Amino acid sequence: MKHIVILGSTGSIGVSALEVLALHPDRFSVLALTAAQSDKRLADQCSAFHPKVASIVDAQAAQRLEGRSDLGDMTIYSGVDGLIKAATLDEADLVISAIVGAAGLVPTLSAIRAGKNVALANKEPMVMAGRLMQQEAHKHGVTIFPVDSEHSALFQSMEGHRKEDIRRIILTCSGGPFRTCSREQMQRKTRAEALKHPNWEMGAKITIDSATLMNKGLEIIEAHWLFDIPASKIEVIIHPQSIIHSMVEYNDGSIIAQLGIPDMQIPIAYALSYPEHIPLELPPLDLLKEGPLSFEAPDTERFPCLAFAYKALESGGTMPAVLNAANEVAVQAFLDNSIGFLDIESVIGQTMDAHTIVPLETLDDALAADRWAREHAAHVVTKFSSDSVLMKRAGHA
Ligand code: NAD
Ligand code: MG
Repeated sequence: MKHIVILGSTGSIGVSALEVLALHPDRFSVLALTAAQSDKRLADQCSAFHPKVASIVDAQAAQRLEGRSDLGDMTIYSGVDGLIKAATLDEADLVISAIVGAAGLVPTLSAIRAGKNVALANKEPMVMAGRLMQQEAHKHGVTIFPVDSEHSALFQSMEGHRKEDIRRIILTCSGGPFRTCSREQMQRKTRAEALKHPNWEMGAKITIDSATLMNKGLEIIEAHWLFDIPASKIEVIIHPQSIIHSMVEYNDGSIIAQLGIPDMQIPIAYALSYPEHIPLELPPLDLLKEGPLSFEAPDTERFPCLAFAYKALESGGTMPAVLNAANEVAVQAFLDNSIGFLDIESVIGQTMDAHTIVPLETLDDALAADRWAREHAAHVVTKFSSDSVLMKRAGHA
């Protein structure tokens, strides 16, 4: 029996993970669930899965949870401390890291330092502090299993092959909702339009990242650290159907790929049950109905966030953490309707330009770079967020 902690259980990945766990109660037991503030959702999950521990960041939400007499004998924690306690519980065998954004860094790193294997969906900590995460994992004998569908595909395509034989890895990318749009069209895109992903249902932040292609940029950096592959060997190809989840090319020209329907239960289940492929109740991939699979070159002129990611990786040090934080601030400002869609890339670009890189060796270095970039990016956001600028952009002035 594997005892599982889910950091971020109320989110899109958290819910999919619970669906997988519910199918295999003989293999997995839910030890702890955590959320930011949605106590109602967390309470519903607790009454279905009976974890020993529930942790919620928001103190008032924690109080409301304490007041629930129907949840039985359960320990409730709150704050960031609570997340760390949940992530490092003695009985935990595997921690599913599914918080969104930089907020996942401290709890995920705490789990690693406590010797817990991690199923990593939360890619932002790997972008911010990949070297540190891997050093700590190595030091504590921890395996980090990728949950991101592309990285799970790469992981599966590398099984049984020699790393030194890899010529390149090819990350596939749906292209997002604005794949065929001109810059002029993108300029006017609204929050609602950007939140409509063609193939995947995900949380708001990653859905916007998929529209700007920053998600793929973050995944390039994630792949670099997960698999220790240089940026020069990491390529992106647009594959609008999201059936091939990524590929590895070897020196002899062989390409190994992993295919499947776009459902996160598949990579989650593999991370939980590696090396087994456990059954899931999903429709099979029907290649005859799927129609042609197509491929396009990515366009970094229309989608500069991809180029930003390569630049951040090449620059090294604190730059990837700055890219990540500036992106988080810009995406939130867009979701708040404070800036336009194309302002997201401007906020990131201007924040990166203003940054003086320093080596990133410790958690404090990562957190300091994150703080600096958030402050700077928030300042840049104000330049784009005046009503008149937004009205003009929308064509009303
Ligand atoms: P989501 O917004 O749906 O869920 C986020 C979860 O994190 C929620 O449980 C929320 O309560 C919690 N959370 C948010 N802010 C927090 C904070 N400050 N402190 C503690 N907890 C906090 O996000 P998601 O789509 O499930 O994505 C989670 C992570 O997985 C992201 O890093 C994303 O890039 C990655 N990922 C998601 C998908 C997907 O299909 N959704 C696919 C691949 C990778
Ligand atoms: Mg992905």
